[in-house]
Amino acid sequence: MPDLIKVAKFGGTSMADVAAMRRCANIIKTDSDKRLIVVSATSGTTNLLTSICRQPDRETRDHFLKQIRDKHVALAEELSESSDMRNNVELLLSELEFVVIENTVITTAVKDTILSFGERLSSTIFTQVLIEEGIEALWFDARNVMITDDMYGSAEPHLKSIRKKADKKLKPLINKHVLVTQGFIGSDRSGNTTTLGRGGSDYSAALLAEAIDADVLEIWTDVTAIYTTDPRLVPEARPITEITFDEAAELSVFGAKVLHPATLKPAIRKSIKVYVGSSMQPEKPGTWIVKNTKENPSIRAISLRRNQTLMNVHSLDMLHRHGFLAKLFQILAKYKISVDLVTTSEVSVSLTIDTDIMAPGHYHLSEAIMKELESFCEVKIEQNLSLIALVGSNLDATSGVSGAIFSALEDVNIRLICHGASPHNLCFLVNEHQADGVVKTLHKRFITDKPEKVLV
Ligand code: ADP
Ligand code: ASP
Ligand code: MG
Repeated sequence: MPDLIKVAKFGGTSMADVAAMRRCANIIKTDSDKRLIVVSATSGTTNLLTSICRQPDRETRDHFLKQIRDKHVALAEELSESSDMRNNVELLLSELEFVVIENTVITTAVKDTILSFGERLSSTIFTQVLIEEGIEALWFDARNVMITDDMYGSAEPHLKSIRKKADKKLKPLINKHVLVTQGFIGSDRSGNTTTLGRGGSDYSAALLAEAIDADVLEIWTDVTAIYTTDPRLVPEARPITEITFDEAAELSVFGAKVLHPATLKPAIRKSIKVYVGSSMQPEKPGTWIVKNTKENPSIRAISLRRNQTLMNVHSLDMLHRHGFLAKLFQILAKYKISVDLVTTSEVSVSLTIDTDIMAPGHYHLSEAIMKELESFCEVKIEQNLSLIALVGSNLDATSGVSGAIFSALEDVNIRLICHGASPHNLCFLVNEHQADGVVKTLHKRFITDKPEKVLV
């Protein structure tokens, strides 16, 4: 029995090719506490599978299917002659091709089944890489444990069932084997495949860590740590050694792709320590996400969430009446619209929702919901907005923070501000085309130019 139980998750770029997989294998090999390995699809595969679901014509689908086949067959062939693994890869590819050909109309349920092949393929190949490295690895179908509802595309996990299944099916195996399973995918109660939403493998790993009472959850990705902002956008961004659960949760909710927004919920529930590191440079210090940190700057990091829609609702009925907001939110809930920021005035409410870039008109506000809303208020929609969040500690109680931030952004039209609801964030909306510049300006002013403590 190992001293600690660690769950390690490896993302898409960590699964990109055999060399990347071998680097991950090395990380696992050097630490016998890592008992459960959760993997994403190889990089780009989920996008290809999504493209298949969007293409009605056979020729384009075949083209994408061929790309997926070629990529995975090449990976399998690069490994040893394990005919079992090669057969399994071939079986999965044939099954995928069958599902695509059989379903000319792709329902959300069929889409989840199609998307699941990415993780099923990568985990099959990666298990063989581990075996070749001398690790007693065993492939495990996550759908036997990851029980969810049937909201295909963004399924909600059923925690009690997951724990029960984990007790019965996972726990007895982790002492003997290093289990390799899939992130992102699950199963509803009828046994249909579901997915937790894009980027959901981090969340899967956290849910499994919770279910097996793991001590540590490790997220191995393509950056060495959580940075003060997305290093792709701001090259001067700095790695963060330690961040609180609250701050990291706010960062991910407000757009930092490095963690799926729900990842920290299970970790917080069970006080599981979370580490974020790079599978390419595992020796570089990563980030520990913990309950309390030694340093507590008021601005630790900045995140950016693109594709935001602002909905302005106006009605004179709001004036001195009760029940208006309840009615508004009831309708939004009925249509499963998730609202992020809200501000109100005497006769109007503004709220933000994610723009659905795949939907016609680019937002998920169907004609039905608009009709229902317009029956009791005026609705105005603004698009092409981005949400910027400054994340840190005591932001609600530090004097001068908002003044300093907004005076650094004199030339920017700020559409909506939320400050004070949480001590850990201050966020606002700006026009999409100004967003990158705003992040760069704020990062320079409050982080790069304040190398010691990020205090305003
Ligand atoms: P994986 O495939 O391993 O899950 P993702 O692409 O989902 O990796 O997440 C890693 C990416 O998150 C990085 O390449 C980086 O561009 C982006 N990112 C956004 N914000 C941050 C941040 N604050 N710190 C680190 N990475 C960030
Ligand atoms: N493969 C899935 C995606 O690309 C899940 C993940 O990588 O976390 O969204
Ligand atoms: Mg990810």
